[in-house]
Amino acid sequence: MAKAAYEELCAHSKKTFVLSSAASVLSWDQETGMPPGGGDLRALQLAELAALSHERATDPRIDAWLKVCEQDAAMRSDLFLHANLRGMRRDYDRATLLPESLVRELAATESRAQKAWAQARADSNYAGFQPWLTRMLELQRLKADCLKSSGQSRWDALADLYEPGMNATDLRALFTPLRKRLVELRAKLDARGRKPDESLAKVEFEVPRQEAFVRAVLSAMTFDFTRGRLDRSAHPFCCGTLDDVRLTTRFHKDNVLDALGSTMHEGGHGLYEQGLDKDHQGTPLAEAVSLGIHESQSRLWENHVGKSRAFWQWCKQNAMRELGPLAVPFDADMIYRTANVVSPSLIRVEADEATYDLHVMVRFELETALLHGDLDVKDLPLQWNRLYLDYLGVEVPDDRRGCLQDVHWSCGLFGYFPTYTLGNLYAAQFAAAARRAIPDFDDQLARGTFADLREWLRSNIHQHGRRYTPSELCQRVTSAPLSSEAFLSYLEAKLCAVYEI
Ligand code: ZN
Repeated sequence: MAKAAYEELCAHSKKTFVLSSAASVLSWDQETGMPPGGGDLRALQLAELAALSHERATDPRIDAWLKVCEQDAAMRSDLFLHANLRGMRRDYDRATLLPESLVRELAATESRAQKAWAQARADSNYAGFQPWLTRMLELQRLKADCLKSSGQSRWDALADLYEPGMNATDLRALFTPLRKRLVELRAKLDARGRKPDESLAKVEFEVPRQEAFVRAVLSAMTFDFTRGRLDRSAHPFCCGTLDDVRLTTRFHKDNVLDALGSTMHEGGHGLYEQGLDKDHQGTPLAEAVSLGIHESQSRLWENHVGKSRAFWQWCKQNAMRELGPLAVPFDADMIYRTANVVSPSLIRVEADEATYDLHVMVRFELETALLHGDLDVKDLPLQWNRLYLDYLGVEVPDDRRGCLQDVHWSCGLFGYFPTYTLGNLYAAQFAAAARRAIPDFDDQLARGTFADLREWLRSNIHQHGRRYTPSELCQRVTSAPLSSEAFLSYLEAKLCAVYEI
């Protein structure tokens, strides 16, 4: 009886997956190729598919099937089945805990708040967004109250949606020492008073040449173009899964390193999706475990590979040939240094490796305070600017480049930002473990051989899907719980060498 119920569950889950994968292709098309006139119909198509998916995800039969399986002792003791059932239970509970009226109100407010935010940002006028942020916070508190389990704060309940098990107390314990050492490192590099040469960043390479270059790197990373593709969009992203992964990147004439970084970043996300276990497609065992772990895959390729000296030894001699004669005067060591310049800035998405997490910590401090009523919405710009000066040493000239820069809060994404930093910390810990497992790691990178690293990531992380929780996975792969130590030692060693300190 339990076996039949499990089969029903998997069949139901796979059909829901087919439906949402269709929505994903339509969203990708909206960002890459849809003519502007298609917008109204596309919104209707996506809303209809989202409603159908939600209806399927909240089907009461799921609860009944799950109960049958959960009571079966043999199933509980089977690791694979147990993990799949745990994932399905989590998804069902999350989908059904929110009342229909709140889901509708949230969707309507998000779309209007996003429009108000875009206008307020264009005008650098916080007052235009303030009432929407106030309303959004009220709704997020209601949402958190529906999701909250005992011992969880409201912020914890929202954060758990993106990173199962994450809570503000554990994050503070991770972030406090991390912030201190990152601020010290920034000061140390500042005091050095000399920056690596940045002239490569100003050379204008034709976009078709840049595209051939990033495609050569993506192929070397073993991204499978028979099961994925690369296109352009204003904001790079990765969507799709397994045999159909869609990546996008962007090109600026005078910033080839941005195109490379974006492509390797999205390529890392794409390799994770291509590395999931196809036998379980459409069920939790073939889904990414969390946003933090997903981000660890993109940051590992973007930073630990793409900003390493060994990578540039290969890249300069090989993929970079695609850039033509303008690239010739730059040697590998020079580009490696350029790729690692640290420059505290106002904008998170443009931040370097040493200051990125400080941007995230500002948002974490502020959104926990906003959500729990310890910070008044009207005081947000003031506190934002104060923390930027404190953590990053930069003066915020206006709200457009200050608290209005990110779309997240207008979309109702509270509890989301810290997954970016968790990604950086997981990436460093995974990269250190990969180095231990692959003794000639740097020699391989210098030869452009990335298959062993990809295989290590696949067998240790990708193929497990949601079999383990993020913290179980980290312990299993690195033999240690998550900490900031691997990240800090990697970063301090690299930057002190680059800055000759
Ligand atoms: Zn990412």
